[in-house]
Amino acid sequence: MTEQSDIAEIRKSVRQLCENFGEDYWLALDRETGYPTEFVKELTTSGFLTVLIPEEYGGAGLGVFEAAAVMEEVCRSGAHAGACHAQMYVMGSVLRHGNDAQKKAYLPKIAAGEIRLQSFGVTEPTTGTDTTNLKTIAQRNGDDYIVNGQKVWISRIEHSDLMVLLARTTPRDQVSKKTEGLSAFIVDVEKAVGNGLSIQPIASMINHHSCELFFDDLRIPAENLLGEEGKGFEVILDGMNAERILIAAECVGDGKYFIDKASAYAKERVVFGRPIGQNQGVQFPIARCHAEVEAASLMVEKAARMFDAGEPCGAEANMAKMLASEASWHAGDVCMQTHGGFAFAKEYHIERKFRETRLYQIAPISTNLILSFIGEHVLGMPRSF
Ligand SMILES: Cc1cc2nc3c(=O)[nH]c(=O)nc-3n(C[C@H](O)[C@H](O)[C@H](O)COP(=O)(O)OP(=O)(O)OC[C@H]3O[C@@H](n4cnc5c(N)ncnc54)[C@H](O)[C@@H]3O)c2cc1C
Repeated sequence: MTEQSDIAEIRKSVRQLCENFGEDYWLALDRETGYPTEFVKELTTSGFLTVLIPEEYGGAGLGVFEAAAVMEEVCRSGAHAGACHAQMYVMGSVLRHGNDAQKKAYLPKIAAGEIRLQSFGVTEPTTGTDTTNLKTIAQRNGDDYIVNGQKVWISRIEHSDLMVLLARTTPRDQVSKKTEGLSAFIVDVEKAVGNGLSIQPIASMINHHSCELFFDDLRIPAENLLGEEGKGFEVILDGMNAERILIAAECVGDGKYFIDKASAYAKERVVFGRPIGQNQGVQFPIARCHAEVEAASLMVEKAARMFDAGEPCGAEANMAKMLASEASWHAGDVCMQTHGGFAFAKEYHIERKFRETRLYQIAPISTNLILSFIGEHVLGMPRSF
């Protein structure tokens, strides 16, 4: 386990790195829907984006607890971690489910920043959250699988060398459990584009580089199967807990960003001859948000520790994501209110972060689906769907 002093050192170093990429950098990218190439490069070469890769493959070999601290600081600085966070957790599917050849081929290059694996293709337009009902199929044909279907909202694929793809290899009516018969693949994006994969960017509310994907007889070499055929749901599910914890940490960072901004402004903005923060109607909502973010942060820490100890942590990862995303959204709303009209001015940066943090109540999993998980799997109430 990392000592408190080491975690403090990690946080300090990440903060220093982020200072080179101020809020104007992120605002400009948001305006141009640009990609933070320099930021991602620096976060990779400094070793922070690769903390979860074991030392034998060139990473820092640390846990989700340390990775969460990195992502929290990135978001607290005003940055938009959505541009790169998946580089941290998608590789976990290769690490935990890849064979030796796959790990040796990909992990050292990811650690060195030579290739990017920060895209994962799960969501489909017609089935949404009902993942096991997805329609994209991969049929074995000699040494290849042939993929046909469609995905939606697949983020960062235009800035990724590899994608982890989930497709059905056995029809749903031929498996005993709906989670069976799905398989995960590593897709070489550059080779695939124009050879059965086409990519259509989606204009969206935030600068997340999400795309629609169309598969038309895309051939994937059978050696790119990740884990066992038919067991792909487990490959994806395993990575999802890490994803939820890290995104929860980002929300804690966003929440702290909003509280820093709101409390600073409440102290300096003078109306009616006194700082607005002297009014309890302004001060108390900010104080409440602080309490909410701190509480969510404890759940993130608990989930991260359990993940790193190899304990089942589905409930904790989900609760951390739900509580943190609600706390950051509430803090964003209060920060907007505290700034009055100026909150709408782009140069204050709040409206951009407000849009960005809203995503996390919907993706990677929506609040209702988390509540249904808690209701059914933690509290034993009847299954609702
Ligand atoms: C910016 C962005 C980036 C994304 N990036 C990726 C990515 O990189 N890879 C990827 O695979 N996906 C990605 N997604 C997809 C994301 O994971 C889904 O949008 C999310 O899981 C919700 O699925 P959906 O949009 O299909 O909503 P739906 O499944 O259509 O649900 C719509 C609403 O209905 C509710 N609902 C549905 N069923 C029930 C039920 N039974 N009970 C109660 N409520 C229900 C949901 O909670 C939700 O609020 C991204 C999405 C966005 C917006």
